[in-house]
Amino acid sequence: MVAQPVTFIVLVLLVLLIGGGCVLIRSAMRRGAAAASSVACPSCRHANPADARFCAHCGAAMR
Ligand SMILES: [Zn+2]
Repeated sequence: MVAQPVTFIVLVLLVLLIGGGCVLIRSAMRRGAAAASSVACPSCRHANPADARFCAHCGAAMR
C-alpha cells in the first residue's frame, strides 16, 4: 500500500515540530546555564563567577 500524501505531510510536520522544539529547548538551556554560571558586577558589569563575593575587575562587593 502506498503512503497517502496526508500521512507524508503529517510526518513532515511532526519532524519540523520536534526539530523546532529541540532547538528552542537547547537555546533555553544555554541561556539558563550562562545566567547560572556568571553574574554581572553591579558596579562595572564585569561578568564574574556566580559564587564570587567580590568583582574580579573592580573589587566591588557582589550581592
Ligand atoms: Zn566590577
